Amino acid sequence: MTNNSQPTGRNATKREQPSIAIPASAGIKRYGITALQALMVSLGQPTYRADQLIEWLYGRSAESYDQMTNLPASLRDQLEQQQPIARPEVIDRQISSDGTRKYLLRYADGARIEAVGIPDRSRLTVCFSTQVGCSMGCTFCATGRNGLVRQLAPGEIVDQLTVVANDFGQNVNSAVAMGEGEPFANYSATLDALRLINHPKSLNIGARHLTISTSGVISGLMAFAAEPEQFRLAVSLHSARQQTRNMLMPRLTGYSINALQQTLLNYNLAVGRRVSLEYILIDEVTDTDAEIAALIAFCTELNCHINLIPVNAAGADPEFFVPTPLSRARAIRSRLLSAGIATSIRRSRGADIASACGQLAGS
Ligand code: SAH
Ligand code: SF4
Repeated sequence: MTNNSQPTGRNATKREQPSIAIPASAGIKRYGITALQALMVSLGQPTYRADQLIEWLYGRSAESYDQMTNLPASLRDQLEQQQPIARPEVIDRQISSDGTRKYLLRYADGARIEAVGIPDRSRLTVCFSTQVGCSMGCTFCATGRNGLVRQLAPGEIVDQLTVVANDFGQNVNSAVAMGEGEPFANYSATLDALRLINHPKSLNIGARHLTISTSGVISGLMAFAAEPEQFRLAVSLHSARQQTRNMLMPRLTGYSINALQQTLLNYNLAVGRRVSLEYILIDEVTDTDAEIAALIAFCTELNCHINLIPVNAAGADPEFFVPTPLSRARAIRSRLLSAGIATSIRRSRGADIASACGQLAGS
């Protein structure tokens, strides 16, 4: 078979970098609240039309502008031509024995991500993705393995929640950005998404029930501390010793542990809220006496809550990423509690369908 489509000559040696930008097919889902208001003004409409659109798109999961009967027909026509409405398609759904549901979603351009619905008595939490893949390459995490494919748009993030809500047939009560991606590497879209989720005509979830989990991007932490809403923060620390953290999180070596600690102390002061620290327990790696002593030192001045998470198998080197046995995890929790640090051991939900932390890979 001949290969006519291959570039020849000089271009053949220059490999095209795929774009990580949001594709045109995202249509109306590319806009946050202020951008929707600006769009309405540019079309000669009052800004309250943005609220009406938000209600249709995210409160009622509308699939076409025809449904939006309280918008003028001329506006619906204009939007129809300029801003397609795309909704992600559920291409696979797996249900765990504990009721957790994992969704493989495909956007109009073919990009795939995973989202998870976690029921707990009458409440429903969604674990959502902020990027397709992730560029951080943490060695224990399945998401990072294939790098970053592209950014997600604000509405593409919100749609993950509406898909899960519709599938469960109930409202979402809380949401965490603990799916694929590093939220602070897609800062403005993630914040726009949180504001859309928070909007009374959309999912109307209170800011205190919306949590961002970051691997510790310091510029993002500083910006987040200055946001007016009471969104919650979780930081993936995993080790308070520089050498160990560098090995586990090789792309975050530019942010020192000391700088991270100082930034979190400033965060405490700025927002007056506690920060959650995620700490994966890897046998003989992050659970040694020296590691726990460093963790206690890191937290001494900090208003924080530590979640200890026995590492999940994520397809990475299983000989290295062995979870700490539960008996030792409990001993570590006792040691932290005695040091005055609020600590829980987080049970993984949905591990049998690979929907636990770090197991999402859009596969
Ligand atoms: N990129 C962000 C949010 C997504 S990852 C972050 O790193 O915080 C969500 C959480 O899953 C993080 O705390 C991450 O460290 C954790 N995680 C990743 N791989 C894991 C694994 N194999 N076992 C347990 N937790 C894991
Ligand atoms: Fe990215 Fe978070 Fe996975 Fe690290 S742990 S690769 S930051 S998703």
